[in-house]
Amino acid sequence: NLPVVIVGAGHAGGRCAERLRHFGWQGKIILVGDEPCLPYERPPLSKAVLVEEVEPSPSFVIDPEMLAALDIEHVAGQVVRSIDLRNRTVRLADERHLGYCKLVLATGLTPRRLPMLDVLGSRVCYLHKLEEARTLRSAIRPGAKLLIVGAGFIGLEVAASARKLGAEVTVIETAPRPLGRVLPARMADLVTERHTNAGVKILCNEAMDEIVQTPERISITLRSGETIHPDLVLVGIGGLPNDQLARSAGLQVDNGIEVDDRCRTSDPDVYAIGDAASHRNPHYGGRWRLESWMNAEEMASNAARAICDQPRNGASVPYFWTDQFDRRYQIAGLLEPQAEIYEQGVAGESGYLACFVVGGKLRGLFGIDAGKAFRKAQNLFRGGAVATRDELRAAGFLAARETA
Ligand code: FAD
Repeated sequence: NLPVVIVGAGHAGGRCAERLRHFGWQGKIILVGDEPCLPYERPPLSKAVLVEEVEPSPSFVIDPEMLAALDIEHVAGQVVRSIDLRNRTVRLADERHLGYCKLVLATGLTPRRLPMLDVLGSRVCYLHKLEEARTLRSAIRPGAKLLIVGAGFIGLEVAASARKLGAEVTVIETAPRPLGRVLPARMADLVTERHTNAGVKILCNEAMDEIVQTPERISITLRSGETIHPDLVLVGIGGLPNDQLARSAGLQVDNGIEVDDRCRTSDPDVYAIGDAASHRNPHYGGRWRLESWMNAEEMASNAARAICDQPRNGASVPYFWTDQFDRRYQIAGLLEPQAEIYEQGVAGESGYLACFVVGGKLRGLFGIDAGKAFRKAQNLFRGGAVATRDELRAAGFLAARETA
């Protein structure tokens, strides 16, 4: 009668607990998390939580009523320190030991830190938890000078939110262009243009050389020689998977906790899901560690199905969205640099959709407010079917301008 223990009460952990009940798990479920609150969704932290006039309440994955109705035990504010695979127990920070029949690791990631900025104390922040979003919310106001280090998705989402609120925003990026790790140059330029048009100052090939803080102000000298005086610095330079627990327990880890197509780790009674897990993608091959809302949902459901002896979900194509200013950018699959790009609509404007085709097969999609058309194109990916160029044409995707 041992419980399923879930470590990490974030998006994937919370959803997994809920899905376990949905798929018929009758036994005990214990959800252990180091945050003080119930599992919530993080996408609003860089958007609605910053810009809405009245702070919206957290978007809970499991709210208090669900917790009671589903009979899930939530242990809040507790770090899990270690796992003993042989005796099937986990040890909590308060020295309690919990036995398990199945263990699910949903430990997410930790934002990469920039120790050189520690001297700034409360004037430097990171954005991963609700508390951090609240701190940022209270600091961003009209005329405030915000420096964002890193032009990835989180950095640019905060830049858009802060600009909307009338802050002066500078973004520095060491790479030659924003979003270089995730988007091909042409698509990255479309996103960047929206920012520069709205008055965000983006400095690429740039880094911080010297940081001086006096009681009056912060002075940061950049590699180019320019000195800026921000009121606040936000660091958004990616994150590292929280896989130390798994590694110390002896589970297989390589840029995330390795799992199979049922989210099982190298120990058959231990599962891993969400940002912390790396899995093989049957459409694209290789190991993928995805940091996205959809991946958290799907892996949580898949692990719950496996634990409840239900058939697995069909393997889906990676999907991510990001809201910046009044635009929703959506990405599915792989946007490979060697792809031929077939476009609909006006590049950079709402309704734009780009299909990435490699060897006559659809491999990726990029859309801007492309709603229905994006979903329709996404359906061409479903069930492992990869659309050929002819299928794309028949589905009406290549009727518009074709750029090869
Ligand atoms: P998390 O939600 O991070 O949860 C992990 C939890 O485990 C955390 O609470 C952590 O504190 C806890 N934990 C870790 N180690 C331990 C331990 N040893 N003991 C106890 N607890 C532990 N995705 C999109 O697709 N679109 C978006 O627009 C988007 N916007 C985002 C904006 C922000 C600001 C952030 C931070 C993320 C965004 N994401 C977005 C990504 C998405 O939110 C994540 O992919 C998702 O939250 C991953 O869920 P997870 O459960 O794996 O990790």
